[in-house]
Amino acid sequence: MMHIKILKTVIFICWVCCLQPAFSRPLYGGIYERTAERLPVFDTIMNRVWQQTKTGVPRSTTVYNLLRSIQPNGKWNDVDYTDRTIAKWKPAAHLEHLRVLVNAYVAEGAMYGDSLYNAIQHAFEYWYSVDPKSANWWHNEIGAPQDLGELLIGMRYAKKQIPQSLEDSLLQRMKRGDVFKQTGANKTDVALHYFYRALLTSDTALFSLAVSQIFEPLTLVHYKEGLQYDYSYLQHGPQLQISSYGNVFLTGIVGMAYYVHGTIYALDEQKLALLSGYYRNTYLKAIRGAWSDFNIEGRGISRKNALDKHGEEKRLPLMNQIDPLHSEDWNAAAQRTSGVKSASFDVPAFDRHFWIGDYTLHLRPQYSFNVRMVSTRTKRCEAGNLENLLGRYLSDGSTNLQRSGSEYYNIMPVWEWDKIPGVTSRDYVNDRPTTVQWGEQGSTAFAGGVSDGVYTASAYVQHYDSVQLKKSWFLFDREIVCLGAGIRSEADEQVTTTINQCWLRGDVFTSDKKQKTLKKEQVAISSKEAAWVWHDSIGYYFPQGGDMRISNAVQSGNWNKINNSFSDELLSGKVFKLWFNHGAKPQNASYSYIVLPAVNNVAEMKKYDAKQIHVIANNDSVQAVQHEGLGVIQIVFYKAGKVDVSGFSFSVDKSCIAMIRNAGESNATIYVADPTQLEDAVNITVRNIKTGKQKILHVDLPIKEMAGSTVSAAFNNIN
Ligand code: CA
Repeated sequence: MMHIKILKTVIFICWVCCLQPAFSRPLYGGIYERTAERLPVFDTIMNRVWQQTKTGVPRSTTVYNLLRSIQPNGKWNDVDYTDRTIAKWKPAAHLEHLRVLVNAYVAEGAMYGDSLYNAIQHAFEYWYSVDPKSANWWHNEIGAPQDLGELLIGMRYAKKQIPQSLEDSLLQRMKRGDVFKQTGANKTDVALHYFYRALLTSDTALFSLAVSQIFEPLTLVHYKEGLQYDYSYLQHGPQLQISSYGNVFLTGIVGMAYYVHGTIYALDEQKLALLSGYYRNTYLKAIRGAWSDFNIEGRGISRKNALDKHGEEKRLPLMNQIDPLHSEDWNAAAQRTSGVKSASFDVPAFDRHFWIGDYTLHLRPQYSFNVRMVSTRTKRCEAGNLENLLGRYLSDGSTNLQRSGSEYYNIMPVWEWDKIPGVTSRDYVNDRPTTVQWGEQGSTAFAGGVSDGVYTASAYVQHYDSVQLKKSWFLFDREIVCLGAGIRSEADEQVTTTINQCWLRGDVFTSDKKQKTLKKEQVAISSKEAAWVWHDSIGYYFPQGGDMRISNAVQSGNWNKINNSFSDELLSGKVFKLWFNHGAKPQNASYSYIVLPAVNNVAEMKKYDAKQIHVIANNDSVQAVQHEGLGVIQIVFYKAGKVDVSGFSFSVDKSCIAMIRNAGESNATIYVADPTQLEDAVNITVRNIKTGKQKILHVDLPIKEMAGSTVSAAFNNIN
């Protein structure tokens, strides 16, 4: 590694005078102050950075093409340097070209001779002199400085270094973005190029600052941007961003934690626990096989391939180095996301309700069924930068149901956007665009869930776009019971509840008949009782029938209509779509359906009966389900009320969600959560109906950052 103990001013003047014609070269030449001593640990760390950021050896044809097309002044004519585009900023192509050249030069510089070195130098000089800028601050203060840092680090491994004063000038140019003004992922991103600069200049003070700033977001916050006490990740206000910005957050921190692992700068134990916990138990849990839940991508849901997580196999091995204690988890996730093992490989049953993020994860080895809600405490999935233009209903109890994992992969251009899986909304003729940019605040306080980590009940009071109702999900093993009640609307459009809208895979069968021909829309089933629909190893069971509609037709669309950065090329595909039609202006309508996410064939489906499941109540005040086989009772009280079930009467003096396990047994337990997060206690009266004996449980509800989370109370011996 080169040591820098030179007088930059002298060298700079000398270099310009002696080596550069005064007018044909852009003027550059900042002076960058460096410390005299370089610590060996910097060499170790810089080498890790280079190993991680270098590309494969570029193809020689690509390199020769770039060498042929570069102009004497270091410009490429195929790059529009004046472009200021917000999303896909065109000048970034110059840095991509430069990255190819730097990688080629370091790997096999001798093969190309001086022309390659000269091209690299001129390309750096041209970038410095033109200093392209985007209308989006991200490119100016994050993207370009990071690229420059990585390119300069790459050149440190080259046979011949770029001139000192040119590097100094580019280091000055990297001084953009104020790390102290940024939060969350943006802070991490700005700090990363500070870190590169510190490595390049052996600046120990800047290095410590950059590392501590990158690790700084690794702390728990409450509704502020960042990692929450429930281990969800919020950014752009209180908006769920588990992938999207949460992924950027992970990338920055994992990268840094890897660079400094085993050194004096390594992550401390407490922060490591936060990183490991978020990555393993939130982010990776929201991925099935190699594809993420569409609910965790933020506005990135409108980007092509956003759900594809095959790339995790590159990041997960780093976690093996950083957090070897959980290597089994990292390895299993790497095997699932790379497709080496099946989507169910090493997937245990796992439930978690994120009381801050308004999101529920429900995992079984055979499937994932996750629910996204919104409340007055959080924001809806955003539109912004001309992305996610039609995603206005994405947060109204959207349900992501995955078996193989790819059920929704790149379906978004052909989706009907007012038929998001799980959502009740007005059914427009043309999808209605989002009007509020960067996340609209939710409109009701009631959104939450009760969970003991194995079973969960979640519920959401919806009042949006002139549609009101109460929705709840009762999440068991084989079955998920979905209830809706009090559906009201005064708007002209019909109101629908969509059960699913995913890629069509194979035939669709119903309890009436096999649906073979592709039809745009038809009534799903005429029978009222024990009606069912089966598609792609998933059953949908309708205990009360209803006006169910089905479609397995070809749907068409393009990415551009949902995201202006993408092409308007027409795309088509067959889609399985199943929904309830509640009609126009419903007054107090309701629905119920049971999702059976692992029914391998029609014969199995025909045998299914719902005798274990009892829908105890489904109305405006209370929704309750008993799963007899599992000994689980789940009750959503939208106000103070009473439910009689299993020989007991449960009454509450406030709205809450309750789950009772093992009623009547010695280990009977009641779990409670307050979805409004407004109450500090609830009184639950449990009465034995037969004997009249009763017990009043006064349950103190969690407060502050734990408000909305689940607490439990025992109620045995009421005989
Ligand atoms: Ca529609």
